[in-house]
Amino acid sequence: MAAGEPSPPTGARIGTVRRDGRTDVFFDGAAADRLMIRRCESCGRWFAPDASGCPECGTEELDWAEASGEAVLVSWAVAHSRTADPAPLALVELAEGPWMYGRLDAVAAPREGLPLQVCFVHPDEGESYPLFKEPA
Ligand SMILES: [Zn+2]
Repeated sequence: MAAGEPSPPTGARIGTVRRDGRTDVFFDGAAADRLMIRRCESCGRWFAPDASGCPECGTEELDWAEASGEAVLVSWAVAHSRTADPAPLALVELAEGPWMYGRLDAVAAPREGLPLQVCFVHPDEGESYPLFKEPA
């Protein structure tokens, strides 16, 4: 990181998807409360938003499709930072199969396999992003 460049919040930097030209659809989807992930039209498999190709059939052309937003918790960690509030980060398994990283809402008793549902946070500044929380 270049000197003088402002440090983004920890949660935006570690483990989560960042807009990089290939993930525009993901962030545009998040802004519209839709969880967009990658899908291989050739073999029907689903992949994380930052996947770049299908290891099953070898195609590098993955389409975008909307996921249900249902997931289960695989692993989690709390990222501490001097400049931002602690950011719980989760690795979740989506109902469609792929694993992806995302923010975790304040879950009282996180455990492997905990059912989660995606919702979306729309900050005043910066990108909308998915937040995984316990279903109501
Ligand atoms: Zn494929």
